[in-house]
Amino acid sequence: MIPKLKRTITSLLPVEKSRTGECNGCGDCCKLPFRCGFLKDKEDGTYACAIYSIRPPNCRKFPRSRAQWETVKENCGYSFPDIRIQVENS
Ligand code: SF4
Repeated sequence: MIPKLKRTITSLLPVEKSRTGECNGCGDCCKLPFRCGFLKDKEDGTYACAIYSIRPPNCRKFPRSRAQWETVKENCGYSFPDIRIQVENS
C-alpha cells in the first residue's frame, strides 16, 4: 500500500518530460496493488476504465515517472528512454 500512497501524494507533480509512447490498455497500472473496481474487461483482451473521464490524477498521469513505469514496464505502452545511453551514443 505504500507505493499506492506515494503515487497518490505525488500525482500533482508533472509527468517526466522523457516519457514517450502511449497507453495500450494493458491494465497493469490498474491492478497495483489490487485490481481496481472500475477496471472493465474488453473483448479484445485489453481493459477500459469505467470512470475514465473523471479518473483521478494518479491514474491520469501514470506512469508519471520512470520509477512508476519500472513497476509495469513489461506490458506498458509508455517508456522512459535511458538518457545516459542516448548521450553516449550521440
Ligand atoms: S500500464 Fe501503461 S499501457 Fe498499461 S494501462 Fe497503465 S498506462 Fe496504459
